[in-house]
Amino acid sequence: MPILPPTRETIAAAAEALRRGLLVGMPTETVYGIAALAHDPVAVARTFAAKRRPGDNPLIVHLASADELPRVAREVPAAARQLATAFWPGPLTLVLRRRPTVLDCVTAGLDTVAVRVPDHAVARELLAAVGEPLSAPSANTFMHLSPTTAADIEPELRQQLAMVLDGGPCRVGLESTVVDCTGTPRVLRPGGVSRAELEAVLGQPVPLLGGDDRGPRASPGRYTRHYAPVTPLRLAATLAPGDTGLTFAAPSGPQQVQMPREPSAYGAALYRVLHALDAVAATAIVVQEPPAEPAWEAVRDRLAKAAASD
Ligand code: AMP
Ligand code: MG
Repeated sequence: MPILPPTRETIAAAAEALRRGLLVGMPTETVYGIAALAHDPVAVARTFAAKRRPGDNPLIVHLASADELPRVAREVPAAARQLATAFWPGPLTLVLRRRPTVLDCVTAGLDTVAVRVPDHAVARELLAAVGEPLSAPSANTFMHLSPTTAADIEPELRQQLAMVLDGGPCRVGLESTVVDCTGTPRVLRPGGVSRAELEAVLGQPVPLLGGDDRGPRASPGRYTRHYAPVTPLRLAATLAPGDTGLTFAAPSGPQQVQMPREPSAYGAALYRVLHALDAVAATAIVVQEPPAEPAWEAVRDRLAKAAASD
């Protein structure tokens, strides 16, 4: 329950709590996660209960290094290996064919497992101290905004955690890019690594799974509405003076935040600003629509999901 500064002692205590099947709030470079021992069904069940997350939405397994991939994946295709080499540790999740020993509750019964190596010193020290893969979904109630600071973890959710390690504000601030590597690589969720970066490494186009594609390899977590503040959010070309919201221009009202024009800086600030405005906004949060350019894909995806009504 307490929010603790990361020290050798607190990280050792967090590792001990995890070994006992408890949950720990873990900073990563994307967003704060709820870490649990991935091979402990009781701990994983606690994770779903704490988030009120449906059981058909699988968890990402976090590893200390790519060397541990064979512990959870039975096949690591060449493209996955190239991506891991290029982007790990980092905000990239690979979907691979799983080993039978990976729990069904972690993968929602799929024959695949989502894995990544996070790029945050505290997460990596915790993974090294535990010595086991950790499942870690974002530390928010299902459908709510992900926290990008320890203080943004909802109090009711924090009560389900043995402790939160405070690793400061998350550098990326948006969830990882999820790439299905079980066939021709394709993006299931845009995120901290852009498709242009993936394509540069693989030397081939990496498509984004379209909204209508509900084939067998589609990602179960691709809900239309997701990542949303409680206050209704809508996109607009510009903000009116009375609007509460996010703008690129100089603010024209007291509840307006001027956002960076650079996509990664915008992404790093987005959830923190939405959390803050959610606490003060009366009827709506209005967001000035970012440019329809590839570099804005992850930000636009999150805003579209936050604006969707179901
Ligand atoms: P979160 O942990 O909240 O960042 O969400 C994890 C994301 O990864 C969700 O969109 C899941 O649907 C997706 N995911 C996890 N495991 C798999 C898998 N085996 N296959 C496809 N997508 C997955
Ligand atoms: Mg999440």
